[in-house]
Formats: sequence, structure tokens, C-alpha cells
Amino acid sequence: MIGAGWAGLTAALAVARAGLPVHLIEAATTPGGRARSLTLDDVPLDNGQHILVGACHATLAQMRSVGAAPEHCLQALPFGLRLFAPGQPLPALALEPRAPHLPGLALSLWRALPGQPLGSRFRAVLGAGRMLRHPPRNDVSVQEWLEHHRQPPALVHALWEPLCLAIMNTPLRQASACIFQHVLAEALNRGADTARLLIPTRPLGALFPEPAIAELRARGGAVELGRRITRIEPSEGAGYRLHDRRGAHSNARAVILATAPSATARLLPDTPELRATRQAVHQMGARSICTVYLRYARALSLPPLQGLLDQHGQWLIPRALAGAPHWLAVVISAADDQPARTPDTRWREVALALRATFPDLGPPLHGHAICERRATLDARVGIDRIRPSSTTAWSGLYLAGDYLTPGLPSTLEAAVRSGLESAHKLLENLP
Ligand SMILES: Cc1cc2nc3c(=O)[nH]c(=O)nc-3n(C[C@H](O)[C@H](O)[C@H](O)COP(=O)(O)OP(=O)(O)OC[C@H]3O[C@@H](n4cnc5c(N)ncnc54)[C@H](O)[C@@H]3O)c2cc1C
Repeated sequence: MIGAGWAGLTAALAVARAGLPVHLIEAATTPGGRARSLTLDDVPLDNGQHILVGACHATLAQMRSVGAAPEHCLQALPFGLRLFAPGQPLPALALEPRAPHLPGLALSLWRALPGQPLGSRFRAVLGAGRMLRHPPRNDVSVQEWLEHHRQPPALVHALWEPLCLAIMNTPLRQASACIFQHVLAEALNRGADTARLLIPTRPLGALFPEPAIAELRARGGAVELGRRITRIEPSEGAGYRLHDRRGAHSNARAVILATAPSATARLLPDTPELRATRQAVHQMGARSICTVYLRYARALSLPPLQGLLDQHGQWLIPRALAGAPHWLAVVISAADDQPARTPDTRWREVALALRATFPDLGPPLHGHAICERRATLDARVGIDRIRPSSTTAWSGLYLAGDYLTPGLPSTLEAAVRSGLESAHKLLENLP
């Protein structure tokens, strides 16, 4: 198994639980990949603020299976959103928490559009109802899809655009309407439980990666952190030989390559049989996310999640829930669309804009900006048609990762589902 992100760890656990010996090799010294813990100024934080929803069934089940009960590790909030623009004390848009079935949502939307003419409010609510129930026939951009369903520009700006960035990490004009609709329908149209927003109350490592590694080791698996694989080749008998950058190698009967697309494209051998898979992996594309962490002199008392309109980031999450009451996180999705900045400039800009929106905050003592250049897949129109499969032309060589799960953007849920699928295929096909 190569890669101890959430996909690789899920696959490794499934194989180990089936009674097979597992050897998990991870390049970084910390497990978790793009959802891992880190320490800043001696405070445990994460490489990026993560939020789940109740519809992430596979992820929640994996957490539970390693003893990280979601009830203890995640704060559940009924679905609701409040988005604030600079200089306005009242939210520019408020979707109040209510049972997220269609009538409840329709009422929320109706109330969220107080300044709009009646006809436009009516069309928006009807259109939103259709959007939740009917997937687009052909994939188009989210922008076109919203126009088709007559969503007024004010609602697009204040609700759909921030939601699209949060879910897809891809701007409206490029994002796939099929994937967006699928997520909205799964999360918002299946009842209050699936629509809940779940905010981690512990560092990400404790939610799954660390207990998963502990279980793998307890089951006799070998876990090597800090070892980077540089080449995979078929071994003379059966199976594969994995070479690392120090010149050492390991043998494996079968391999699950659970690395992000950029690393996968480098590691897949350049042979005619694997060419189609390599090309598909190459075409995945990536988008960045920056998380700005700000530290304040006093403990902050803020709601657990607030939306930011017309600012440098989209969501504000105080870290008090995760045990760091002087800290808050601001998420900047699709950050590659913004001009390049140094981390220092970035956190200062975010802090300044926040003060304009929430004057009581005052200036922070310090800040950090962590930018993950390849945070997620580019969830653009048509991406589902060209995703690679988890099986390859080489028997015993499988792929796993968040970019493989059709219908989903890059999320922990997509990673976990893909890990389960690859492990299942490996177990099914073992000689
Ligand atoms: C800032 C940020 C915010 C996010 N927010 C959310 C969110 O709110 N909700 C949500 O659900 N998802 C979110 N995501 C997405 C989520 O984190 C990813 O979809 C998920 O973690 C991907 O897991 P993975 O196992 O597929 O890949 P990865 O996590 O990339 O795992 C691949 C692993 O392979 C290792 N590796 C790579 N090359 C080698 C090599 N040569 N040898 C050995 N090991 C190697 C890497 O070090 C890594 O650990 C966010 C991501 C980021 C970066």
C-alpha cells in the first residue's frame, strides 16, 4: 500500500481486517495526507480546516470502526448558513436551521430573499426545488445550470457561489453541475441527519489516521512513515518491487497506489498497457485551498461557522471547538484564482477584511497562511466521464484516492469510498 491518506488507510484497514499481511508506506512523517494534523506556535491545528456533513456515511463509519466516535470527535450543527458582507452588521443571507426537507428549504430561501420582487422569489424557490430533485440531463457548468433554473443573481452571489466553492473548490463557471447536484441532493434532500454540518472538535489526525495506524500495527501490519517510493516495477516472479529514494526496495504481492493524481502519474510505469490510465490520471487537474489561522489575545466567542461574502476567504470557523479558543480559521477555496501572495500578506489581508466585517474582533496577535496547492481535484464539467478506474491493466496494481469516486468532489468521503472499493477489488482478485 503506498500512501497513508484517508484512502490508503481505509484500504489498508480493509485488507488487514480480511486477514492479509499489509505493508503501508507513506512519504510524510505524519499520516493523513491532505487531511492531517500539524502544530503551529505549539498549538495543535490542521493542514486545513475540514468540515463534513451527515451524508458522509462511509467516513463516519470508518471513524467509528477505529474507535473515534463521531459523537465525540465532531460537533454536529443543524444545516443553516449565515453569510456576512464587510461593513454590514446583519447577514447578507441567512438560511436558518430548519428541517432540510423541500418545504423547509423553500421557506428558508423565500425568507432569505427579502429585497427581491415577489415573482423572482417565487421562481427562485421553484427552481431550487427542481434543482434538488432532478439531476441535469447533460453536464453543464453550475453557472449555466443556475441560470436555467432562474436563480436570481443576488441569490447566486450570496448562496450558490459560496456553496459551490465550499463543496467543489471549483468556480461556478467551470464546476460540474452533475456533481454539485448530486452532493446537494444527497446532503439536503434526505432529511435532517444527512444535512447536519459536522465540525471536528479534535485535530484531524485523531479522527482517523492515528487510530487507523494503531489498529494496523496491532494487527501485525508494517507501517513505514517517512519513506518515499520512487518506482514500481513488476518483480520477476509475481507481484511488484517498490523502490524508494534511498535505493532500498520492498516486494509486494499486490499494490494499491493511494497517492494524489500528481504523484500517481509519476509513479505509474510508462508502459503501453498503462498509458490510458496514466493519461486519465494526468487529466484530473488540481485546485488549491488556503487556510488562514489567526491568533487573538483573548478567547473568542463566535458562532461555530459563518460565511464571508466579498472577502479574501469564504468561511470563518473559530477553533474553540477544537480546543484552541484564541484561534480562528478562514478558508479560502479555489485560491489559485486569486493573485499570488506571500503567506504573510495573505493572513494580514484576511485579518483586515475580518475587522471590517466583525469590528469587535480587533487585530490578531499573529497569523499563518497554509496553502495546499493541490488540495482537491478540479471538479470541472465532464470530469466524471474521464476519471480513471481503480483497476489497471496490470493485474494486482490498483489505484485509490479521492479523485476516483464518480459523482463526488474531492472529499474525505470520496477518499474513503475509493479506499474501500480498491481493497474490495484486490481481495476479490487475489489468486
Ligand atoms: C486545505 C484543505 C481543505 C479541505 N477541506 C475539506 C473538507 O472540508 N471536507 C472534505 O471532506 N474534504 C476536504 N478536503 C479534501 C480532503 O482532505 C481530501 O479529499 C482527502 O484528504 C484526500 O485523501 P486521499 O487519501 O485520496 O489523498 P492524500 O490525502 O493526498 O493521500 C495520499 C498520500 O500519499 C502520500 N504519498 C504521495 N507520494 C508518495 C510516495 N511517492 N511514496 C509514499 N507516499 C506517498 C502522501 O504523502 C499522502 O499522505 C480538503 C483538503 C485540503 C487540502
